[in-house]
Amino acid sequence: MGNRLIINKIYELLAKQYNNDNWWKADSIDEVIIGAILTQNTNWNNVEKAIAVLKENGLCSLAGITKTKEEDLAEYIKASGFFKVKAKRLKAVADSLYMINLEKYDNDELRAFLLSIHGIGNETADTIMLYGYNLPSFVINAYTMRIYSRIGIINKKDKYNQVRQLFMDNISKDIELYKIYHALIVTNAKEACKVKPLCTKCPLKALCKFGSDYENIDSKSK
Ligand code: SF4
Repeated sequence: MGNRLIINKIYELLAKQYNNDNWWKADSIDEVIIGAILTQNTNWNNVEKAIAVLKENGLCSLAGITKTKEEDLAEYIKASGFFKVKAKRLKAVADSLYMINLEKYDNDELRAFLLSIHGIGNETADTIMLYGYNLPSFVINAYTMRIYSRIGIINKKDKYNQVRQLFMDNISKDIELYKIYHALIVTNAKEACKVKPLCTKCPLKALCKFGSDYENIDSKSK
């Protein structure tokens, strides 16, 4: 099966298995941007706690962040972990993006601009583009790398942009599809393709090289 067929087939199988309707429902673009920074190296529950504190204090916006001192911000977002580093990043992002004129940039320029801001790497830039600004930029994360390398479409050592391009070349350029597909990948990694995979409950088992080998080894050991 070619890459286009298999990547689209995987989407179909994941969409049949999981319902991701409630994935990343934020109240504003600013909240998505803030969440994209806070989620670095932590789980989403901790991000929600930090966002709740920012909201209680009326600071869950780029304007709110720009007017808050870095050390105070660190206290507000303590629940998200690495709070000093993240406070510095949030300040850099808010100062750069507050009042940004999106019309000045095409998608590639905006992505390059985001990547030039302290603390924004590929995954965060694409998350902000896709879930914040509603632009077609596919998000790759560690879960994507794990699932697709196990299936055998990519190599674990492939570069971020190479894998992103593989998706963007092979699925329809549809913002909602990009959003849902990434959410489905995350869900499958949490439900089945964990560090120690639960292949028997994975909807991708029939397509997956690692899954069929793993199952054979598992059944021999019983
Ligand atoms: S079959 Fe197993 S290894 Fe393959 S994607 Fe599913 S859980 Fe991961």
